[in-house]
Amino acid sequence: MAAAEQIFTHSYPRPPDDKHRLAALHRYDVLDAPSTEDFSFLTELAAKVCDVPYAFITLVDAEQAYVKSFTGLELGKLPRGQCYCSLAVLGDDATEICDLTKDARTAQMPLTLEAPFMRMYSSVPLTSSDGYAIGTLCVMNTKPGCLSTSQHDMLRRLARQVMCLIELRANEKALKESLRELELLATTDELTGLHNRRSLMHRLKFEVARTRRFRTPLSAVMVDLDHFKQINDQHGHIVGDEVLAGIGRLIRENVRVIDVAGRYGGEELCILLPNTPPEGARKFAETLRSRIEAQVHMDGDRKVPVTASLGIGSFNHMDIDDADNLLRQADAALYLAKQNGRNRVEG
Ligand code: GH3
Ligand code: MG
Ligand code: MG
Repeated sequence: MAAAEQIFTHSYPRPPDDKHRLAALHRYDVLDAPSTEDFSFLTELAAKVCDVPYAFITLVDAEQAYVKSFTGLELGKLPRGQCYCSLAVLGDDATEICDLTKDARTAQMPLTLEAPFMRMYSSVPLTSSDGYAIGTLCVMNTKPGCLSTSQHDMLRRLARQVMCLIELRANEKALKESLRELELLATTDELTGLHNRRSLMHRLKFEVARTRRFRTPLSAVMVDLDHFKQINDQHGHIVGDEVLAGIGRLIRENVRVIDVAGRYGGEELCILLPNTPPEGARKFAETLRSRIEAQVHMDGDRKVPVTASLGIGSFNHMDIDDADNLLRQADAALYLAKQNGRNRVEG
């Protein structure tokens, strides 16, 4: 048993450039993607064209073969040494074994020895755009036999269609990721990591509409750093930037996922608190104020004390109100906080 296991799991042949072949396979990033109907359609077609009960799309990874799609028999994942396809990815030619019991490489494999007792195997490699066989489209039968020339030809053409689908999926995935990155870049303020002004205003409109629709309260907290000009003057613009970045981080760590924190402009930040009445916003703002005061900023080995003034605007669905008014309220409260001595919350 131990010896047989060794044969199946360790001593299967690998192509000399298996490392590059695996790199090509992983670039497509399809191993864990669920199989879709279009792949199933192609295996079904392969089985019909070749007049056999079984067809598979298999991707051959370092130690395992992943059956992405099947017709006739569900195989899932197989150790590479138990899979005929690990022989088929040795080169870029089609592989056909007309009697699996008569070939020393396959006679002892479980699919040959155990039900359904496979006897015939024919495959065409799935070749990556840079020329590596990443897997196969294969057909099998429990009766020995060979495919005709026209069946081979059809199998080859179907394998090209499988590869087109794999490429399409990979391109779609890469495109979605690029779009996500682009969107993040376009909506994020680089220094603070918060929403930039445009994104903040966009989200504000959305949150106001949602407040009206679902009859929930909405609050906004406007935050302005105290005497920030002096900080720049005394410690330099670079330290000023570091302070702003630190405050941005602090805010990101202290908001809920549904809150929207943005850079309204310069050293003025704004946090939208959906579904939050004025009392909740006041509590939040007071906690934030004390955390801003407690956060440590350094200019070399000199501490840079930083405080902020905060103003709250709030409305619930009963108010006939709009986004501009909410910010005006928060701004007026912020002005009052400055007037009343800074490092405080008003509104
Ligand atoms: P107040 O307490 O009344 O808010 O005083 P203040 O000095 O903070 O207010 P003021 O509006 O006079 O100055 C804001 C300063 O913030 C001036 C500006 O150079 C600085 N500032 C705005 N954006 C940035 C930035 O991105 N980086 C740095 N380092 N400074 C900035
Ligand atoms: Mg200021
Ligand atoms: Mg300001």
